[in-house]
Amino acid sequence: MPDRAPQPVDRQLPTDEARDLISLVRDIAQHEIAPKAAEDEAAERFPRELFTLLSESGLLGLPYDSEYGGGDQPYEVYLQVLEELAAARLTVGLGVSVHTLASYALASFGSKEQRAEHLPAMLGGGLLGAYCLSEPASGSDAASLRTRAVRDGGGDWVITGTKAWITHGGVADFYTVMARTGEEGPRGITAFLVPGDAEGLSAAVPEKKMGMKGSPTAQVHLDGVRVPDARRIGEEGQGFAIALSALDGGRLGIAACAIGVAQAALDEALGYATERRQFGRPIADFQGLRFMLADMATQIEAGRALYLAAARLRDAGRPFAKQAAMAKLHCTDTAMRVTTDAVQILGGYGYTADFPAERYMREAKVLQIVEGTNQIQRMVIARHLAGPETR
Ligand SMILES: Cc1cc2nc3c(=O)[nH]c(=O)nc-3n(C[C@H](O)[C@H](O)[C@H](O)COP(=O)(O)OP(=O)(O)OC[C@H]3O[C@@H](n4cnc5c(N)ncnc54)[C@H](O)[C@@H]3O)c2cc1C
Repeated sequence: MPDRAPQPVDRQLPTDEARDLISLVRDIAQHEIAPKAAEDEAAERFPRELFTLLSESGLLGLPYDSEYGGGDQPYEVYLQVLEELAAARLTVGLGVSVHTLASYALASFGSKEQRAEHLPAMLGGGLLGAYCLSEPASGSDAASLRTRAVRDGGGDWVITGTKAWITHGGVADFYTVMARTGEEGPRGITAFLVPGDAEGLSAAVPEKKMGMKGSPTAQVHLDGVRVPDARRIGEEGQGFAIALSALDGGRLGIAACAIGVAQAALDEALGYATERRQFGRPIADFQGLRFMLADMATQIEAGRALYLAAARLRDAGRPFAKQAAMAKLHCTDTAMRVTTDAVQILGGYGYTADFPAERYMREAKVLQIVEGTNQIQRMVIARHLAGPETR
């Protein structure tokens, strides 16, 4: 049997700078992230030090303007970085994606003064962000959120409510919070940048999750949190449009992370199948498994091509929301299928924590739920095809 040790993904990268970037990321992934992934996840330990390292390495602001500490990279490159990080550990890849999502409102809708004041620390100064849209009673129907921001007599805003399922809740340095400042529905929502140490902001004990246990997901309580008007992002009433615009890019991040997890599962299954012998032959000789491996690899390549095509539209300044929803849907469903098949290929060992396949399978599931469930992605795609639903 020839040596079939998995090879690094052969990436199409547009510049030498991007190639250097991927080499740096692979080095960090291999030496700093992957070695402790299983142990840290089992211990439910959040690797804050890795995010500090990524920030110091210029990897926490890649798609943003270098004038404010970003990396000036096209989405096409940024997403491939995310894929590499997620393949080493989803808690890290998804964490970078969420940080990018949390930074988006200010980077894209903040005034010049706001960007100059806050962005450098967010993009390369070691800070970590959280994005607060969901609430206990509003998930898919996010426009019905109830957290309220009211002006006090002096012009400050006072925010009260509870956000739910917040990635980095309790460990973030800044929270991009969507709160109601006006009428019911999407037009009454405004975005705010709230510091992590604001008085009245606290996080609950993190949720006990199926996977990604090292990534804290917690309710965030805002109990009369006072923020100056200078921390309002965009216009009053523009917050929901900002939140949705952020999610178009965020969904591509989820798609890239999903392909990273799927690739890691395929690599694991391939390595195992070439070593494990039954009936006197490596199990990779059996056509039943060869076809599974072929399908897994094909779905992964198709997913990668889909997210890259959407990213290139975004980089060209063209509409990409439909393609982002398609990429999120396809790549996360692919991750679920591929990781499940990887467990099958490892047989009984696949069902144990001695191998990472079962962790990949548990981790893949959340990607079908976050940033719009895959039912919601289908609604988005159908609206692009057939127009809004009639009531
Ligand atoms: C680990 C994790 C991390 C998260 N991180 C964040 C974060 O950082 N910030 C944040 O704001 N949120 C975050 N979320 C929340 C996440 O975005 C929501 O869980 C998701 O949007 C679904 O909302 P819900 O859980 O309230 O489910 P619901 O909206 O109650 O949905 C329940 C089920 O009904 C289906 N459904 C709902 N409406 C429809 C419809 N119209 N048609 C068909 N089916 C429908 C859904 O697809 C789902 O299957 C996170 C969630 C998890 C699990």
